[in-house]
Amino acid sequence: MKVTDHIKQAKDTLISFEVLPPLKGKGIEALYKHLDPLMEFKPAFINVTYHRSEHVFKKRADGTFEKVVIRKRPGTESICAAIMNKYNVDTVPHLICGGFSVNETEDALINLRYLGIDNVLVLRGDAAKNETAFEPEPGGHRFASDLLRQVVNLNAGIYLEDDLKSTHKTEFCIGVAGYPEKHFEAPNMDTDLQYLKAKVEAGADYIITQMFFDNARYYAFVDACRSIGINVPIIPGLKPLYSKKQLTVLPKTFHIDLPTDLSNEILKCKTDEEVEKVGRDWLLMQSKDLKKNGVPVLHYYTLGKPHVVASVVKDL
Ligand code: FAD
Repeated sequence: MKVTDHIKQAKDTLISFEVLPPLKGKGIEALYKHLDPLMEFKPAFINVTYHRSEHVFKKRADGTFEKVVIRKRPGTESICAAIMNKYNVDTVPHLICGGFSVNETEDALINLRYLGIDNVLVLRGDAAKNETAFEPEPGGHRFASDLLRQVVNLNAGIYLEDDLKSTHKTEFCIGVAGYPEKHFEAPNMDTDLQYLKAKVEAGADYIITQMFFDNARYYAFVDACRSIGINVPIIPGLKPLYSKKQLTVLPKTFHIDLPTDLSNEILKCKTDEEVEKVGRDWLLMQSKDLKKNGVPVLHYYTLGKPHVVASVVKDL
């Protein structure tokens, strides 16, 4: 079922989770172990992230280096199908521009339909590790909006080979990313919002936000979106904070601020358990407030901390 249909039919705020595919070399059982304790909360859908391939240099026996391409977390599409099969829950594979030609994207979308997947979250992806700025694949998309148009075309039965006759129209429900604290490359919030509006006008059905730790940022973002005519559901993305290291890693990686009250509490902690408790209580406080304010879905980036997320959702 489509994410937007879940939202339309819901009588209360829904719950959804986001997971990473297992590292190459690990089995899918580790992911099931991660999801098992979360399934009692009946998530409306589960997102599975996409991880592009990277170039790494491996040292040969003679001391020279060989450039090889590796993908650390392959299998997003099949993991979505496996999760649907095991738990009977809808899944949302992330699809990115980076590392894909348009033909590869089309094949991926066709496979997703064969697997019975109704949703995709379309994203640009970040620059590859060895690049300073995002570079599209030769013959690939530069912006999420370009990828989005390809999905919209497929939903209209328009394939890349324009001589195909009586084509099947896919019916993907399409999500896009939004940034309550601005995407780091955008010159300012207004410009970023205009590009977000362009994604919605091109056919995005809903928005999921980057994580935030200050709900005021989310509410201001929703107001700004509504004021320029973005009227699709805006799903808040939430993440538990569980280590002191995250005080610097999260702002650096995701270009977000941590509220002073939260960082002060974390800095007072003496053990990892204390940090996890502060992070958990903060996430519960955020979740209760968002629920009270009628958000359509609480979307949790579970990323290695399913027990923290489970304890928050239990106490909602
Ligand atoms: P875009 O919407 O293309 O925007 C990128 C930048 O370009 C922005 O600064 C925007 O303002 C600007 N822009 C947009 N359109 C135009 C235009 N036409 N002309 C000029 N400028 C423009 N990454 C992964 O690799 N895998 C994942 O699974 C993944 N999941 C994510 C899930 C969520 C909910 C979020 C919020 C992010 C996720 N990301 C993921 C990270 C995402 O790929 C990066 O944040 C990326 O840098 C931007 O992606 P986007 O889809 O927002 O890009």
